[in-house]
Amino acid sequence: MELNNLARSVVLGVSNNTVVHSFATKYGLSLGAGRFVAGETLETAIEAVKTLNSKGISATLDHLGESVPSKKLAAGASQECLYLIDAIERTGVDCNASLKLTQMGLDIDQEFCKENVEQIVQRASEKNNFVRIDIEDSPRIDATIEIFKYLKEKYPDNVGLALQSYLYRTLEDMKRLAYLKPNYRFVKGAYKEPKEVAYPQKQDVDENLKRIIGIHLKEGNYTAVASHDENIINFTKDFVKKNNIPKTQYEFQMLYGICQGLQEQLAQEGYKVRIYVPYGKDWYPYFSRRLAERPANIMFIMKNMFKH
Ligand SMILES: Cc1cc2nc3c(=O)[nH]c(=O)nc-3n(C[C@H](O)[C@H](O)[C@H](O)COP(=O)(O)OP(=O)(O)OC[C@H]3O[C@@H](n4cnc5c(N)ncnc54)[C@H](O)[C@@H]3O)c2cc1C
Repeated sequence: MELNNLARSVVLGVSNNTVVHSFATKYGLSLGAGRFVAGETLETAIEAVKTLNSKGISATLDHLGESVPSKKLAAGASQECLYLIDAIERTGVDCNASLKLTQMGLDIDQEFCKENVEQIVQRASEKNNFVRIDIEDSPRIDATIEIFKYLKEKYPDNVGLALQSYLYRTLEDMKRLAYLKPNYRFVKGAYKEPKEVAYPQKQDVDENLKRIIGIHLKEGNYTAVASHDENIINFTKDFVKKNNIPKTQYEFQMLYGICQGLQEQLAQEGYKVRIYVPYGKDWYPYFSRRLAERPANIMFIMKNMFKH
């Protein structure tokens, strides 16, 4: 196993430990998680979006939360998402919304989850806005695609989906959904997946990412390239140039607090850049995935702990 894969596996494994979870939730934001999370309230997140907008960068706001265990919590999460969409309109920021289906009750009742998300997408359609459905771990993909299909048929301009290049199945999923002309966000994938479903080698994940970006762009679909990897970004820049793909058909996306220099540089070069801005109290699982992606981030947190 590669060293990075090993570190990722360990961090994602330890993150499920309840003692680690409660310690981190208590002290984490002040110990460094604040680098990746734009605060715990919608107000602080909107301020972060305004700062990005002032640099010519768009945003997508995500009210953090996933795998909620009750309908009550899921209903609360979908209510927060409605506030979020209203706040975007009220403040006039250049921003849309991202959400996770397990936060809207996917693990409890698929139909209930669909209704929750439909309310949000419907509100976005009334406000001329857009909702991106994040993609979670592999056991949830079929249900996620089913809900996406339903919403995309009903609200064609207001909903998109993220897809992961580490999964063997992604290209087949794209073929099945091609008739919908989806708006996808392409990512490498952030969960711990077995080799039966996902490429274990980074090189294969990267190659598949390039392949699916190229196919989707060539088919004339809107494409969000969500990566901090300069190889992927440069591949996209070359591909759009060679194939005369207009700037209105794609955007680059990155995560809040990661590779800020690159984010600003792309915006200055005239590319559309959108930053995923997460906020809220339930930031721990998101934060664990950011640590797992880059072992150096663990050192950053350790240094902060010793400073305190
Ligand atoms: C906007 C956006 C939305 C996403 N949505 C989803 C989703 O819905 N589902 C999902 O499974 N995954 C999602 N991801 C995460 C994604 O799957 C990857 O895990 C993550 O982006 C790291 O991969 P990379 O493409 O940046 O390339 P990598 O090869 O992992 O990294 C390339 C370089 O980027 C920098 N970098 C990458 N990650 C970090 C980090 N955590 N901290 C510091 N530097 C870093 C490093 O310099 C690294 O060398 C999303 C990512 C982005 C940018």
